[in-house]
Amino acid sequence: MTTMIETPVSKRKAKKKGAKPAKPMNNPPAKASGNKQTKLIMLGTGNAMVTRCYNTCFILRGPNESLLVDAGGGNGIMTQLDKAGVDIIGIRNMFVTHAHTDHLLGVIWVMRMVVSAMEKGRYNGRFRIFCHDGVAELLTYMGRRLLAKNQRRHIGERLLIVPVSDNAQIYAADFNLTFFDIHSTKARQFGFRAELPDGKILACLGDEPFYEGNRHLVSGADWLLSEAFCLYADREIYHPYDISHSTAKDAGEVAADLGVSALLLYHTVDDDLAHRREDYTAEAAAAFSGRIEVPDDLDVITL
Ligand SMILES: [Zn+2]
Repeated sequence: MTTMIETPVSKRKAKKKGAKPAKPMNNPPAKASGNKQTKLIMLGTGNAMVTRCYNTCFILRGPNESLLVDAGGGNGIMTQLDKAGVDIIGIRNMFVTHAHTDHLLGVIWVMRMVVSAMEKGRYNGRFRIFCHDGVAELLTYMGRRLLAKNQRRHIGERLLIVPVSDNAQIYAADFNLTFFDIHSTKARQFGFRAELPDGKILACLGDEPFYEGNRHLVSGADWLLSEAFCLYADREIYHPYDISHSTAKDAGEVAADLGVSALLLYHTVDDDLAHRREDYTAEAAAAFSGRIEVPDDLDVITL
């Protein structure tokens, strides 16, 4: 497996003669110090029930450290990380938005990968999972019940599940993070605002529409990450509004209203992935004149 060049550990490993080079497409090595660029690696872009792509989750990869956000619905997270050329030992921080299956169940596999690497002496330091207290309780329970005895001893020692409250500010990976309650009507969910090393602001709304009370945290952001369940044109087919989701058109209107610079759409249906980028971009662009990204799984975007 290819090793992602991120931590001091993997950097040392990469310098060894004969170490495998990083995959050029998805895993360019971080440049020398002075580079403040952050990349977003989309591990999955689909909604809960997709079969043709993976559930929405991604990595924010700063110059030195990475933040994994959600993990999709199962051990497909291992496949996506492998395809992206990311070794879990290069990730030390994670955020989980909410306790729906398509975001949460992959986390137990991430926990298993991390503690397995710890057991083998491949993982240095601690792995932190930030989430609201309800998710923290669930993950702690799952870890204690599902991981092997020698693995679960790391919970609370080196694998830390860290509850965060609404508006909590934490510096993790390379980012100043502010977590916020998105006021979901379905399951309590947090999004976040990240100040990137170069000063840019990224706001992640989780997988539900924008909540007005969070305007001060999101307004004017450089990047807005928003769900778009389907096209507005297809609303009678997929009924997004019945399940607290929105469309590409709606997301474009929100992005324009919030005055953000760039909009990234995810958490979509998977019936027409071949035309998704083109169709969703066109709908969002009707209201929003900034940059629009509709990535496929494993796309890497420079923020
Ligand atoms: Zn979801």
